[in-house]
Amino acid sequence: MSKDIATPIRTKEIMKKYGFSFKKSLGQNFLIDPNILRNIVDQAGLTKEKGAIEIGPGIGALTEHLARSAKKVVAFEIDQRLLPILKDTLSPYDNVKVLHADVLKADVSTVIAEEFKEIEDVMVVANLPYYVTTPIILKLLTEKLPIKGLVVMLQKEVADRIAADPGSKTYGSLSIAIQYYTEASLVMTVPKTVFMPQPNVDSAVIRLIRREEPAVKVKNEDFFFTITRSSFAQRRKTILNNLTSQLPGGKEKKEQILTALAEAEIEPTRRGESLSIAEFGALADALYPHFQ
Ligand code: SAM
Repeated sequence: MSKDIATPIRTKEIMKKYGFSFKKSLGQNFLIDPNILRNIVDQAGLTKEKGAIEIGPGIGALTEHLARSAKKVVAFEIDQRLLPILKDTLSPYDNVKVLHADVLKADVSTVIAEEFKEIEDVMVVANLPYYVTTPIILKLLTEKLPIKGLVVMLQKEVADRIAADPGSKTYGSLSIAIQYYTEASLVMTVPKTVFMPQPNVDSAVIRLIRREEPAVKVKNEDFFFTITRSSFAQRRKTILNNLTSQLPGGKEKKEQILTALAEAEIEPTRRGESLSIAEFGALADALYPHFQ
């Protein structure tokens, strides 16, 4: 087995050899601690029958751990400057393919169909670029890709919001958007010292396992998400006040909103943060006929 990329000395050596400088605008904070990488990979439950997709391989710190554990790894990297470096650092591994692409624009579905033909189980494993964590996770979930789940590092504050339960301070429309598709759990918090350069915020790893069916069955998904977003527009307002002020024509339709709340058995004085996903589903379905 070759020497780990993720040590301070090796990372500095690689950067010096290629005259590479970090781009803050691309969220480049590289991992320099092999123990954290082993933990992340363990959480993904990879085996030599399974596939891994990585977003943002950097200089390959996590990629090589994935390559050692999975059958095949496909990595999307936006920064052209990293491609020759990755070719060098990952040369001991013949099961890695690096694609030069912005994952937000990439056709991930086609990539999976072409690259993981004989592999059923594919996990996304990544130390995400922090400026786009939410768009990346939402893209991978809403495109309904054939993936088992995600194990990703991101800002602790966003991880807390994603994994939050009803009633907690951090529970909101992001928790619902992600938990609608997945079972979310916070796996570990990670100190700033394991990155080069160190980010300004604390980090955490979350595991999102895709549900066979969404957490609640609704008449119209887009409308369901409109209702959850509207319900948290102003956290201190009641659900009734948020819905009347946020929904189109909501003020004129106050009576219909009250009827729908009664039908879903939700007190109009409750706040969005107290509603479960099932309650939001019932509410969205009761409101839907009034807002078509
Ligand atoms: N995986 C490496 C590690 O853990 O050391 C690097 C992680 S670093 C936090 C994020 C990586 O994502 C960088 O390599 C950056 O260039 C890349 N990146 C940023 N935006 C991206 C995008 N839209 N699509 C693909 N890669 C992106």
